[in-house]
Amino acid sequence: MRSLRISLMSLILLPICLGAVAAGAQERIAIKAGRLIDGTGAAAIEKAVVIVHGERIEAVGKASSTEIPRGTRVIDLSSDTVMPGLIDGHSHPSIRAYTGDKGPNELLTEIGLMEEPSAMQAARGVRDLRVDLLSGVTSDYVVGELGDNDLYLKQMADAGVIPAPRMYLSGSWIMPTGGYSPEPETNGPWAMRIAVRKHFEQGAHHIKILLSSSMPTGPNAGHPYAPGATNFTKEELDAVVDEAHRLGLKVTAHAIDAYSIRFALEGGVDSIQHANDLTPEVVASFLKSHAGFINTYVTMMHASSFTPQDWHFLDAEANNPQEWVDHARDLANRDIAKDQSLQEYLRKRYAQLKLAKDKGIPIGVGTDDMHGLLDLEIEHLVNAGFTPLEAIGAATGMGAKVLDIDKEVGTLETGKYADIISIRGRPDENIRDLGKVNFVMVGGKIYSGLSFR
Ligand SMILES: [Zn+2]
Repeated sequence: MRSLRISLMSLILLPICLGAVAAGAQERIAIKAGRLIDGTGAAAIEKAVVIVHGERIEAVGKASSTEIPRGTRVIDLSSDTVMPGLIDGHSHPSIRAYTGDKGPNELLTEIGLMEEPSAMQAARGVRDLRVDLLSGVTSDYVVGELGDNDLYLKQMADAGVIPAPRMYLSGSWIMPTGGYSPEPETNGPWAMRIAVRKHFEQGAHHIKILLSSSMPTGPNAGHPYAPGATNFTKEELDAVVDEAHRLGLKVTAHAIDAYSIRFALEGGVDSIQHANDLTPEVVASFLKSHAGFINTYVTMMHASSFTPQDWHFLDAEANNPQEWVDHARDLANRDIAKDQSLQEYLRKRYAQLKLAKDKGIPIGVGTDDMHGLLDLEIEHLVNAGFTPLEAIGAATGMGAKVLDIDKEVGTLETGKYADIISIRGRPDENIRDLGKVNFVMVGGKIYSGLSFR
């Protein structure tokens, strides 16, 4: 991953060496918005303008008070709601939920997709990144790929070879022996520190640890790790967190059960992925640590209902992101209608999410391996009692805060990346309007002409 840093360096140096060329690329674009949601949590304003210069936002405000410089290219979205691009806080570009034989362990089969021939993974990654992008996702927070897939996909995206959201990379996840497979195993505090250093050296943006692992294999399969469901020792967790922070990297932890979540938070982890059990003690730990979490509803509750035919619908039949979201929503609703325990779980989860939000815990959303379905994650929060604007915040400004990428993305504010979408509707009034994506820009680059298939 060293070459990534070299290419970043050359990006920094380019404007100095090739000033004239770089200046030519710094186009100024004015986006006229019928309505504007800025992602900060503020209510929509009518008739606004966003001025984009190069890859950044130069100005944003009411049309009446925002001057459009002479010679600026104007994009008229005065029938749309303009808003920040969405942030998928948990993404694996090269895998999808159940796409073939389930085998003895469905999740292992899913992760096994990361061991397929690289061309197959690349093809899936290219497709999934396009789906993410056209569904309005402009940032993918990637939390684990094997074989440097994430790095290579990002390099191709940065080179303009494939369309993709902005990608924040973790490299492979880090975990001790005894959990997910296939996976490099890291045992002992010094090995943990070395793994973090290697990830840093290879260009990782953050460190992903698999803290709770429910899948021991062999004769002890199904036997719980003790205590709780983590096989990290305290000294291993401390080593990862200390080394990452020493190098300026944040740590995000896959943690499902209450024990693991609290263990992570008390160990200084910066964000939690999934956080499926928000007991009062867990809520107290979140409040004490000021960390937030990424909620991943669809993959947790409905992934196993998706068949190869459903993914075929996404790839070969759906004409736009909304048709895919509608298809998936129907599937999820069928799951819920026929399963009383799922209905009970949802009631409990909604109460937990509402409590967490009311207590001020930062909450974001992620699709995991359910590409194109971030809208359903956002809808899930509305079902739990969030206002549509609060739920949109989880995928924009608040989501960016959870992941500590809020200095760059998440809101439409001067100086941030011009990651902007528009919606043919009013998602702050009717959340399902989020499917009506009309315009997508990432870092000043417009992707709206792309077809979904
Ligand atoms: Zn995941």
